[in-house]
Amino acid sequence: MNDNPRKVAGGCHCGAVRYEATGTPLYIPYCHCETCRKTTGAPVVAFIMFGEENVLFTKGERKIYRSSPTVKRTFCSDCGTPLSYEGDWGGNTIIEFYVSTLDDPEGFVPDRHVFYGERIIPNPTDQNLCAQSRRPMVMIVHGWLASLFQASQQWSRMSS
Ligand SMILES: [Zn+2]
Ligand SMILES: [Zn+2]
Repeated sequence: MNDNPRKVAGGCHCGAVRYEATGTPLYIPYCHCETCRKTTGAPVVAFIMFGEENVLFTKGERKIYRSSPTVKRTFCSDCGTPLSYEGDWGGNTIIEFYVSTLDDPEGFVPDRHVFYGERIIPNPTDQNLCAQSRRPMVMIVHGWLASLFQASQQWSRMSS
C-alpha cells in the first residue's frame, strides 16, 4: 500500500482533460480483466484508486462509456486516452485512474494483482525478461529489409 498523501494530477495525452486527486490512494492494483484490456488496448493496466470525494476534474469533459450497468469507463474524446474506471466499491463511489495518466506516476507502485486468472501474459512482472530502454532497433531494421526484399521481388516479377 502506498501511503503518500500528496496531491496528484494527471490527464490525457492531448491535455484536453485534466484531473487532480488528494489523500491516500485506497489501493493500487494491476488489473488483468478482459474489459480493462479491451477498453485500453493494453495487456495489463495499473490503477490508482480514490474515493470520488477526493477527485476533481479540473479541465475538459471526459467521455463516458458504460462497460456494465454500474461501471463507467472514461476517456478523452479528442485523443482517445483512457482515463478512469468509476463505479461502486462497498457502497461508495470510487474513481480509479490509470497510473499511466498521472503526471508523476513514479511513486505509485502497484500493490496487488486483480483478476489474475484472466491474464493473457503468463508472468506479467517477470524480472528475467530483457529490459530495453527503447524499441529494439534490430527489429525495425529487419522489418525494413524484409519490405525492401518483398518490393524488389514484386518489381522483378512485374518487369519479367
Ligand atoms: Zn486528450
Ligand atoms: Zn479490470
